[in-house]
Amino acid sequence: CGIVGYVGTKQAYPIVVKGLKRLEYRGYDSAGIALLNNKQINLYKKKGKVADLEEFTLGKSLEGSTAIGHTRWATHGEPSDRNAHPHLSQSGEIAMIHNGIIENYASLKEDLLKKGYQFKSDTDTEVLLNFIEDIYINNGGNLEEALRVALKRVVGAYCILLIENKNPETIIAARKGSPLVIGIGKNEHFLASDASPIIEYTKEVVYVNDYEIAIVKPDELILKNLGNEKQTPFITKLDIEL
Ligand code: GLU
Repeated sequence: CGIVGYVGTKQAYPIVVKGLKRLEYRGYDSAGIALLNNKQINLYKKKGKVADLEEFTLGKSLEGSTAIGHTRWATHGEPSDRNAHPHLSQSGEIAMIHNGIIENYASLKEDLLKKGYQFKSDTDTEVLLNFIEDIYINNGGNLEEALRVALKRVVGAYCILLIENKNPETIIAARKGSPLVIGIGKNEHFLASDASPIIEYTKEVVYVNDYEIAIVKPDELILKNLGNEKQTPFITKLDIEL
């Protein structure tokens, strides 16, 4: 029910976990984080509170300046460790978090099962992720393009964040019906469901519109529509205090 992302030059873990805590007021049943370090994705997720996730990650490898985090409010699949987000694609190369509901997930899943995909969770999210991956494999590994193609076939509401292991320092995001705010820092960007995790770092934010895709790197923010046309980001100055 909440998402947080960070790309920049600092360690991402403490920033993302703190952000997830700021979103706790929305309610959730599990929490998780995926960190990108040395072209490897480290993923940790747990049923329960963000504090349970922190306990679980004690002593684990938490390096990385790119990360995505999630608090889940289960809609498809019971609250459990394996249904918690982030999810990993079948190849293990892509990690994704999702707020919302994919209404046509059952028919997409049927097609993917016929192609030999196996699922590690009961979520609509993992179906969308492997649907994206299937297109990605067939288009030579262009994640942004695969996402665009996939979203044209998706019915439902979503805010999603994606990372891939071969492309460090990049988060690809998209939304329709679920909110997404991007905070602009110095050589860093913050992504979240609302401004509360962002406001202590920067007052300059971009509210992503429905049917837009954001390609976010430490020093670059590109917005495109589903037709692959660049959109000019509209920067809003927040005048709220913590
Ligand atoms: N539909 C997804 C799930 O049940 C996402 C739920 C959410 O918005 O947290 O896993």
